[in-house]
Amino acid sequence: MLCKEFLERHTEFRDGLITFSRELHRFARHMAHCTTCRRYDATIREAVQALHAASPIAPSRDFRQRLDARHLPENLAEPLLVEDRDVEVIVQLGQLEARKKFNLKDMVYKGKLEL
Ligand SMILES: [Zn+2]
Repeated sequence: MLCKEFLERHTEFRDGLITFSRELHRFARHMAHCTTCRRYDATIREAVQALHAASPIAPSRDFRQRLDARHLPENLAEPLLVEDRDVEVIVQLGQLEARKKFNLKDMVYKGKLEL
């Protein structure tokens, strides 16, 4: 086995996806003779262990609220007023994006803003 193959297949090897004993022996033989790949394997395994040992990442308390305020038009931080002139609604479905600009004065129905 050459270093190139070792590095290309290392993730499979590390994750235990290589089960044929002949293949496992090839990896073991290469590591026995190649200091660079042996060091690479040890470094990757240590890094993965360190990541697993680290405390889980949790979003901050107000993360959801801030995310909604940035992405959902119905959750605008400030209410829409007729004085805002116009509003652009963007709807995205996969790769398809539809944009439509509305003049807020045209959206007044019985004295109230309506969609
Ligand atoms: Zn090597």
